[in-house]
Amino acid sequence: MVRLYQEIPMTLFEKIIARQIPADIVYEDNLVLAFRDINPQAPIHVLIVPKRVIPRIGEATGPADQSVLGHLLVQAAEVARRLGLAENGYRLVINNGPDGGETVPHLHCHILGGRLLCWPPG
Ligand code: 5GP
Repeated sequence: MVRLYQEIPMTLFEKIIARQIPADIVYEDNLVLAFRDINPQAPIHVLIVPKRVIPRIGEATGPADQSVLGHLLVQAAEVARRLGLAENGYRLVINNGPDGGETVPHLHCHILGGRLLCWPPG
């Protein structure tokens, strides 16, 4: 993985991508990695992240981010399908900033399923 800004510390998810921190990986390609959340909020709770860091959706910009995010969403649906969530449904969540509940500054999409999810969220 090529990092443009070597002086910026690696994010937690970059360390998972680099296999410096172990994770239960369920899907990988050249642009994204999907792995099970360490603190699952549903029977199936997977995070899918771009390999090239975008800190959060509010900072996504330009055609390169657009294309990686389009790919990430299509692959999120594919991961959900592979994990058996297509029939009953699932939820994709992207938290942005403090009020949104973002805790890791590396854009990630939660894939949640395997139970009925409440709406509105808490
Ligand atoms: P956020 O709150 O930023 O939307 O989501 C961050 C997610 O990362 C949380 O659901 C949290 O449980 C998960 N997480 C934090 N540290 C780790 C870790 O070391 N490994 C894995 N697999 N998930 C993590």
